[in-house]
Amino acid sequence: MVTEFQPDVRAHPPEEHDLFFAFRGRELLVEQTPARAAPPTRGKLAMAGLGPLRSQPLGALDGVPCISAELAPDAAAPGGMTFLGLRDLFGILKDQEYAIAGQAYQIMRWDQIHQFCGRCGTPTETKSDERAKVCPTCRLISYPRLSPAVIVAVCREDELLLVHGHRHPEGRFTVVAGFVEAGETLEDAVRREIDEEVGVEVKNIRYFGSQPWPFPDSLMIGFTAEHARGEITIGEDEIAEAGWFRWDDLPRIPSKISISRALIDWFTDSRRNAHSGS
Ligand SMILES: [Zn+2]
Repeated sequence: MVTEFQPDVRAHPPEEHDLFFAFRGRELLVEQTPARAAPPTRGKLAMAGLGPLRSQPLGALDGVPCISAELAPDAAAPGGMTFLGLRDLFGILKDQEYAIAGQAYQIMRWDQIHQFCGRCGTPTETKSDERAKVCPTCRLISYPRLSPAVIVAVCREDELLLVHGHRHPEGRFTVVAGFVEAGETLEDAVRREIDEEVGVEVKNIRYFGSQPWPFPDSLMIGFTAEHARGEITIGEDEIAEAGWFRWDDLPRIPSKISISRALIDWFTDSRRNAHSGS
């Protein structure tokens, strides 16, 4: 069945069947059966006595209103429900619900940290016609913040540049990534990050694709690039190891949740096809 999500910032009269994407900290409340998890309805939340601290309309999934909500830090999961982090919900929530959950987390967090004007401290008001908060005193408008980050697969013929960071799980390697800084183009950020992390120069930077990354508020913008010159010199405290890996001899790599894996899969597929002559 094809599901369709229609984003909408307008609030609707409450209905029992409204779907709640309700967070306690970074964890989403879900109804769990052995087979899958799903967000609870407004009716089930009310029955469990869980009133949200704040909530925001998100839109409608197949006509059913979806709402992001923040629960109290000490909220307990009612029977048949559990709190799970977004990473743990990948592959357990339906794809469309997972995408909405990521958006819901970003909207919930924006709602939480923009209760007061960042310029004058007055309590803000939520605008009804767009996703924004406005200060009734100085008129400052605050939109949900996105922190763009570039992520890039650097190729050298049959090899891919992969790095292992101190914060990564033991033995797992991935492609280079980093946040875009003020005043940079995306290409500038790609060149700077690669230079900072491994000290090589790249050429032929090409857009690959993008992915919302709600941990907590990023947008990952993927690129491919080719090695131009220079040997690997680990330059940043966050990188522990880096190297060139052949397409058919890769180390442990990230799960399917991330665009980093999509980039690595693109590389291995393209080299496999080249070697099979197709
Ligand atoms: Zn203000």
